[in-house]
Amino acid sequence: MKLEGGCQCGDVRYVVDGEPEHVALCHCADCRKSSGAPVVAWAAFKTPDFALTAGNPSVYNSSGSAMRHFCPRCGTGISYTNEAYLPGLVDIQVATLDDPDALPPQAHIQVAERVGWMQHMGELPEFERYPG
Ligand SMILES: [Zn+2]
Ligand SMILES: [Zn+2]
Repeated sequence: MKLEGGCQCGDVRYVVDGEPEHVALCHCADCRKSSGAPVVAWAAFKTPDFALTAGNPSVYNSSGSAMRHFCPRCGTGISYTNEAYLPGLVDIQVATLDDPDALPPQAHIQVAERVGWMQHMGELPEFERYPG
């Protein structure tokens, strides 16, 4: 499976070519702070299956050996690497894919750190755009 993605401004572009090891929604506090969002969707690929095709992401060491790679211009988080816990893998942020529907999450992880109100998100009313 070959998929392309990139940041909001378009400076950083990448391609993944292969099958993800796993796809998950992460509820950990580090992902939350890093993204400014309550949950982040990740897909883990073998490192050789991931390649940058444009741009040069900045890297932030968010905790321990966790490295978060993001566009230095628009701030979009692109990928995550952790040689201690995820050797040989690169996690990409599924929402940065041109087609995020291509990699549906299979699990919720790190729910021990989940924001309380995230547990029942599926029960909220939905609107095509805005209510009223
Ligand atoms: Zn950008
Ligand atoms: Zn996380």
